[in-house]
Formats: sequence, structure tokens, C-alpha cells
Amino acid sequence: MVVLPALVQAVVVLRCDLRNLLSMKTKECPSCAMEIDADSKECPICQYEFSEISTSYKWIAILLIIVFLLYIFF
Ligand SMILES: [Zn+2]
Repeated sequence: MVVLPALVQAVVVLRCDLRNLLSMKTKECPSCAMEIDADSKECPICQYEFSEISTSYKWIAILLIIVFLLYIFF
């Protein structure tokens, strides 16, 4: 089943996103592992630049879950 790894990935992404929402909108810098403001485009510690890929990836994840649910119920 091809859709399953994608769904697992989607759940991981959404869980990570939920954790960010619960922890007052911070995100972890992938470069220096510091918790920084989720709205920052750039890490204030190491100047790591965040791309918009994670945001669009989140929407793909949500879309995949919707498609998967439709696939199950219809
Ligand atoms: Zn950093």
C-alpha cells in the first residue's frame, strides 16, 4: 500500500506542529537545536534561514489525510 508511508509522515509532521502550538509557537532550529520564535524567518543564534517548505509540506500532509479518509469511507 503506497499511501501508508506518506500518511505516517503526515502524522509525524502534524504531531510536531501540534507540539509547536502547545509550546507557545516556538520551533527548533535544525542547525543549532535552539527553541526560537515560530514566526522567525531566520534563527537569531546561528542565522539559519528557514524556508517555506515546511509550511507547504504541512498542507500536503493535511490533504493526504483528507484523501486517505475519503478513500476509506467512499
Ligand atoms: Zn540556529
